[in-house]
Amino acid sequence: MGEFVILLGAPGAGKGTQAVRLSAELGLPHISSGDIFREHLKKKTQLGMLAQTFMDKGQLVPDDVTIEMIKERLLKPDCANGAILDGFPRTPFQADALLEFLAVIHGKLQMVAYIKVPAHILVERLSGRWTCPQCGRVYHISHNPPREAGICDDDGSTLHQRPDDLPETVENRIAVYHQQTSPLIEYFQKLALLVEVDGSLGIDDVTEQLLSKARGS
Ligand code: ADP
Ligand code: ADP
Repeated sequence: MGEFVILLGAPGAGKGTQAVRLSAELGLPHISSGDIFREHLKKKTQLGMLAQTFMDKGQLVPDDVTIEMIKERLLKPDCANGAILDGFPRTPFQADALLEFLAVIHGKLQMVAYIKVPAHILVERLSGRWTCPQCGRVYHISHNPPREAGICDDDGSTLHQRPDDLPETVENRIAVYHQQTSPLIEYFQKLALLVEVDGSLGIDDVTEQLLSKARGS
């Protein structure tokens, strides 16, 4: 039976950064809906082209295609023991679909970790985020810089800023989060699955909080 962990939080809260670490510590694959959309975009698939029209504006990709894409991913053999979900679900409808799906595959939702970060910190994190277009590794210009400025430590690619991290789109993404995703906090609270961690602390401190919650529950 698989054990699933959801990382919930606003854009820039640190979900991706922490998902990579939890994945290594807990031995579960890191499934990022945003990364999968960006892979499709790179390959110019039909789904990628559709997703881009929403991502560019900082809007959510429609639930039906997002849910199908994630279900397909979770059925791959590497998710047999569970997964760390980063960026999915993002709406109550997606959460309903996930719970239904987990019931069918006999997966257990071990915890939903809400990484809480004040708004002004989010903007500062997103505006300093640099990403490797090749492997997806995420850096921050001052909090988590690469060894050599502008170059990925892992594969030597030139880092770039995601187009949706530019200031106009960031504002919209945070507003979309408040409207469409933040109701999930109460949603999972009611199911007694929510744990909250202080995401304003340093990267290592946040990892420590998450691991102690994951191991304690
Ligand atoms: P999300 O996946 O929630 O959008 P990321 O993990 O991509 O967030 O983090 C956003 C930016 O903030 C990145 O540049 C990352 O390096 C940086 N970051 C993540 N966690 C922290 C932290 N605890 N303190 C400082 N910077 C952080
Ligand atoms: P962040 O790391 O800032 O939270 P993501 O990489 O998770 O951003 O997502 C980037 C974009 O991909 C979102 O703004 C949205 O357009 C799309 N996206 C990602 N996950 C979902 C989802 N679960 N539902 C709908 N759209 C999504």
